[in-house]
Amino acid sequence: MISKLLRVIIMGPPGSGKGTISQRIVKDFGMKHLSSGDLLRKQIMGRTAAGIEAKKYIDQGQLVPDLTMVNLISNELAKIDGYSWLLDGFPRTVVQAKELLERGPIDSVINLNVPFEVIIDRIKGRWTHEASGRIYHTEFNPPNKEGIDDVTGEPLIQRDDDRPETVRKRLEGYQLSTQPVLQFFDDKKLLKVFTGKYSNELWPLVHDYLSTKITPVQYTSYK
Ligand code: AMP
Repeated sequence: MISKLLRVIIMGPPGSGKGTISQRIVKDFGMKHLSSGDLLRKQIMGRTAAGIEAKKYIDQGQLVPDLTMVNLISNELAKIDGYSWLLDGFPRTVVQAKELLERGPIDSVINLNVPFEVIIDRIKGRWTHEASGRIYHTEFNPPNKEGIDDVTGEPLIQRDDDRPETVRKRLEGYQLSTQPVLQFFDDKKLLKVFTGKYSNELWPLVHDYLSTKITPVQYTSYK
């Protein structure tokens, strides 16, 4: 059934293209985008009480406490009441998921299932010019000369964050912490999994699926 309002959650490991797919959903379906990470960064910049508290956890690589998160997100959702929305980065725990469902209905939870090996392979091609932050990719955006920055002629480095073993650890951590959340939504018959390697492969599937629930504004195709 096509409805007028759609409340969707998007999940996916870091490097899955969740940001790209989210932007495309927002554009083609005219939805409001609410990203918990962006919201937290805004709170930190604005030095709000929630921002100051959140920063302590984020700086240590930890999750912000559920109560703070639930309050923040509830406030933001209240502001876009009456619109279709896409929630990104929230919920990260089962407690958050339960609180969200208490607040109001969710229509669908999209999970982008991109094989870990594909993500690791893609990220390991990244090389950075440390001083400027310029990023190259051996496959998609190679420097003119291997291992050398085009502008300064200085050597490129591989950031710690982009090393295969670091990426693998990050992905395993993500999987461990989100598995219960995915299970929770699956039990509620809300989970819809999309499997693929690239955003351009996943996008038509996601678009087709969402089109069964809400009328799209347009369809943008990406090659
Ligand atoms: P992100 O940009 O989504 O990776 O978020 C950046 C950081 O904000 C995360 O590493 C967490 O510390 C925190 N964060 C974002 N969303 C949540 C959430 N739903 N629950 C707890 N912490 C969060």
